[in-house]
Amino acid sequence: MKKVVKFGGSSLASAEQFIKVGNIIHADADRKFVVPSAPGKRFDKDTKVTDMLYACYSLAEKDHNFMAEMTKIEERYQEIIDGLGLDLDLSPEFSQIIDNFKQKAGSSYAASRGEYLNGIIMANYLGYEFVDPAEAIRFNEAGIFDAELTNKLLSKRLADVERAVIPGFYGVMPDGIVQTFSRGGSDITGSIVAKAIQADVYENWTDVSGIMVADPRIIHNPVGIEMITYAELRELSYMGFNVLHEDAIFPVRTVGIPINIKNTNAPDDEGTWIVGNTCQKSKYVITGIAGKKGFASINIEKDMMNAEVGFGRKVLKVFEEYGVSFEHMPSGIDTLSVMVHQSEFVNKEQNILSGINKAVSPDHIDIQSDLALIAVVGRGMKAQRGTAGRIFSALAHANVNVRMIDQGSSELNIIIGVANEDFDVAIKAIYDIFVETRL
Ligand code: ASP
Repeated sequence: MKKVVKFGGSSLASAEQFIKVGNIIHADADRKFVVPSAPGKRFDKDTKVTDMLYACYSLAEKDHNFMAEMTKIEERYQEIIDGLGLDLDLSPEFSQIIDNFKQKAGSSYAASRGEYLNGIIMANYLGYEFVDPAEAIRFNEAGIFDAELTNKLLSKRLADVERAVIPGFYGVMPDGIVQTFSRGGSDITGSIVAKAIQADVYENWTDVSGIMVADPRIIHNPVGIEMITYAELRELSYMGFNVLHEDAIFPVRTVGIPINIKNTNAPDDEGTWIVGNTCQKSKYVITGIAGKKGFASINIEKDMMNAEVGFGRKVLKVFEEYGVSFEHMPSGIDTLSVMVHQSEFVNKEQNILSGINKAVSPDHIDIQSDLALIAVVGRGMKAQRGTAGRIFSALAHANVNVRMIDQGSSELNIIIGVANEDFDVAIKAIYDIFVETRL
């Protein structure tokens, strides 16, 4: 068996945390490939090393003195090295980084050093080989991740490697310039490595015991999810679940490697399994509830709209021209609504409205703002009648007015639009009806 284990920033924030991680790795000989993040927060008000690096580089970029900030970063690593009692000197690495900062190597390069240095410490601590992702993780000229080339290069690079540490979060473009994934991107690296070595499991270690049915900031102590499919998680991550980076499932999804979300601080907890398919029913009819605030709906009315071929295309073309992507497009016989992120829409509002007027000459356009979307997701909903009924009666009892309803064709999700101010109450009502009363 081969396992890839990725550890998040809070799991590697201090020497104490490193020791826990070392114990976890040594407890299972299959944990052969390790993907570390940069050191995260040690306590609530602490700063992540990645953020320290961005701040430090923004000084370097403006030709300001950045040495005080760099020294603080160096101290974070030294504290870990000392706490682990390692015989490791990172000063040559830091001299190189300082030189590169002076030569304006870019903010992606700067941020990537967080994982790079943590990877060196981790490899030294475990006695594993250090593999720099710059050797094999590739982005194209436009900075877009090149999955195919990466898989080819990385599987070749790791073919004869027994055990290795591969830092998360970054790779390089064809000209060798460092490029990072978006924030939290070490999760993606873990998934890429799992695919390249054809791992049996990708363990993603964090500071919670798996994924919860709903956001703990809204529901006090929500129950955990034991098993979830990639497709369900994709829906939920898109709508705001942030235990795992929303793109992290793509590499493993194509080859069906399961992901196990585990807690570094409670390693015996089973955590959550993310799988391709399962015959295991979820404990409740629904698997999870997620949502986001800040949407606007542009409602277009025109008599005989249904008879006008190309109406939808013409409307969407206007949004496309202004670079605004749409989330949902519910329609009636003579009405069509386009739901968008309010923040993306607001500056282009008047241009888009006049564009729609020109394109389709509607009878009336009206805008509803400050809407929230809630996704109720569950593989079990398809086979169960009455799920939608239960959701809407719960919302009615909670006095929440439903502004939009959309059921995906896969019957995996029901999306509900409510006013921003009803967001928390709506999520509580849905959680209660399915989880608390277990209807
Ligand atoms: N260190 C990076 C961040 O803070 C990447 C990661 O931790 O996954 O976003």
